[in-house]
Amino acid sequence: MDIQMLIGSRFEKGTETEEHVLNPKTGETVLDLAEASLSQVDAAVDAAEKAFKSWSQTTPGERSGYLLKIADAIEKDAVGFATLEALNCGKPINAVLNDEIPAIVDCYRFFAGAVRNLHAPATGEYLPGHTSMIRRDPIGIVGSIAPWNYPLMMMAWKLAPAIAGGNTVVFKPSEQTPLTALKMAKLLSEILPEGVVNVILGRGESVGNALINHAKIGMVSITGDVATGKKVLQAAAKTVKRTHLELGGKAPVIIFDDADIDAVVAGIRTFGYYNAGQDCTAACRIYADAKVYDNFVADLSSAVSSIRFNQADDTENEIGPLISKRQRDRVESFVARASEHKHMEITAGGKISGDKGFFFTPTVIAGATQDDEIVRREVFGPVVSVTRFSDTDDAVAWANDSDYGLASSVWTKDIGRGMNTAARLQYGCTWINTHFMLVNEMPHGGLKQSGYGKDMSVYALEDYTAVRHVMINHG
Ligand code: NAD
Repeated sequence: MDIQMLIGSRFEKGTETEEHVLNPKTGETVLDLAEASLSQVDAAVDAAEKAFKSWSQTTPGERSGYLLKIADAIEKDAVGFATLEALNCGKPINAVLNDEIPAIVDCYRFFAGAVRNLHAPATGEYLPGHTSMIRRDPIGIVGSIAPWNYPLMMMAWKLAPAIAGGNTVVFKPSEQTPLTALKMAKLLSEILPEGVVNVILGRGESVGNALINHAKIGMVSITGDVATGKKVLQAAAKTVKRTHLELGGKAPVIIFDDADIDAVVAGIRTFGYYNAGQDCTAACRIYADAKVYDNFVADLSSAVSSIRFNQADDTENEIGPLISKRQRDRVESFVARASEHKHMEITAGGKISGDKGFFFTPTVIAGATQDDEIVRREVFGPVVSVTRFSDTDDAVAWANDSDYGLASSVWTKDIGRGMNTAARLQYGCTWINTHFMLVNEMPHGGLKQSGYGKDMSVYALEDYTAVRHVMINHG
């Protein structure tokens, strides 16, 4: 197992507080890893600064070549990466191997192509006697900070557009899930020039805080909690850094009376509970038309009760545990508070499962209303609430009545109704008759307190580059 940070071309252990890295399936410690000191953070930033001089001068074609090599190397070691990710996150191995790794490999390949195809308004004489052109140049050093729910994928979403755009990076994984980032550090050191990507370990309040406040860092990219995003903004104000924020979500799902209920049930069984609901786009806040509500709740509750987890043979598992005891207890407390209200009913799950690890039974809470905590706050666990509606305007208003604005979906056989509803939703993404599906060609990112950074797609490449105007006087 790779256990050292990457600073320039050096592999080093951290010298400060040790963090337990756990196996969420058992609760046992896999290993302890010490976090970086402030001088190691500085050394990583210095290495990125030194590398920027030459990396920023490479051609898009050269950077594309590096990205393709990274993609090939991950693909070649897919089982190694998937095994480590499954161990550190508790994810079913097949989910990592068959869903995540191909998407991660494709992310590097997408940006390898995209960086060779940037577009801008035509160069021209917008002022007589002067030629104007647009450049897209790198920003400098990007401080990238990732969460624990998809560690290797979040690393890909952050590194690929940043280095494709000619930036250099200091990357910090979540202190809870650093293992695949350390394996990537080894892989990247064998492919990229020294210092282009540096990987350091540590908690948010110490190492993360040092990164977001570092004077030499030109842009901070973070996926995490809204509260963390606000701290990034406060720190960024000091030196007017660019920020790329991907924060939480509470995705509404509107089910109209003409929807194919079997398809909706199958969809929510997957998209509400994938990764044990630890997904900012999870289909967790359902509004079902009163005409189909009862049947839907009954069918969903029975479908959710069949989700396989905590089986000895991991290939049988559809979902894993929560990431930590803290997260599992947080989920339990949401469900406990909901069950205190008479108008809500737990129609599936609702309890901790097993005597080891951090498992929680996939849960459906029916009868929820718009003001209930379970409808308003992000649970980030395998819990879906269902609310009844009788009027489309109510459903749309309730769906939009949220601090979050990341993802949403509409289920109907009437495409006009689907399109009309999608147009009224204030979310970074609206799916019609599906949910959760992402492609590297399309952007992922939010509105409102879900943040505003776009991951994947050419929009991410735009976020990680600066638009510049160069004008030449013919005289
Ligand atoms: P978190 O905000 O606690 O941590 C995310 C990262 O930020 C970690 O690496 C952490 O060490 C770091 N961090 C924490 N405090 C910091 C600080 N003061 N300064 C600098 N860095 C700091 O979030 P989490 O618990 O790891 O992840 C779950 C959250 O992430 C959920 O709220 C979820 O919705 C969100 N999320 C959003 C997206 C998205 O695309 N919008 C994707 C995945 C997760």
